[in-house]
Amino acid sequence: TSFNTLSLSRPVLKGIADLGYTRPSPIQCAAIPIALLGKDIIAGAVTGSGKTAAFMIPIIERLLYKPAKIASTRVIVLAPTRELAIQGADVGKKLGKYVNGLTFGLAVGGLNLRQQEQTLKARPDIVIATPGRFIDHIRNSASFNVDSVEILVIDEADRMLEEGFQDELNEIMTLLPSRRQTMLFSATMNSKIKQLVSLSLRRPVRVMI
Ligand code: AMP
Repeated sequence: TSFNTLSLSRPVLKGIADLGYTRPSPIQCAAIPIALLGKDIIAGAVTGSGKTAAFMIPIIERLLYKPAKIASTRVIVLAPTRELAIQGADVGKKLGKYVNGLTFGLAVGGLNLRQQEQTLKARPDIVIATPGRFIDHIRNSASFNVDSVEILVIDEADRMLEEGFQDELNEIMTLLPSRRQTMLFSATMNSKIKQLVSLSLRRPVRVMI
């Protein structure tokens, strides 16, 4: 298979080519078509599988299909650590390089809170966040409205629970619009993950590689 068979638009294909990806990885082959349909996904995928692009590619593609009329945050990607969030944003920016006006914002611990508030006020299309800092922003800043969120990604869900983010995740689920697409990625599946899945996903398609 090549990326050309995945019905992706020209700007997204150009971004993929720039990154030097010639063919989709197994997780990308499996997840991209399902994600493009707007379905919830639970994916078993480890670091190194190409999982970041497996969710970033269909996200960017879906934002392209249905452009926003006004600036609004439409996607939240939750990552367990600041480093992973920064890496994810980096991959997203590269993949979306040829998509006009696509904007990204980071909401992670360890970076200046006020500066992040300013970034979020501008309503970037895609916000990549760690759960603790994300909660701080929605609790403290009236300027960060999450009503427009259409897609949620929970990346490395198992690690997120190991880091003790269970309560934060539960709170985030209640604050985000319930009508949304959710994609959950986890290297392992245990009872805690299953609990999180039943709380956050609706009739998910399982993608196990
Ligand atoms: P990830 O699993 O998202 O952390 O990605 C692992 C590594 O694989 C990253 O360095 C990516 O740039 C790279 N990668 C992701 N998808 C592809 C692909 N289709 N072809 C080649 N490399 C890829």
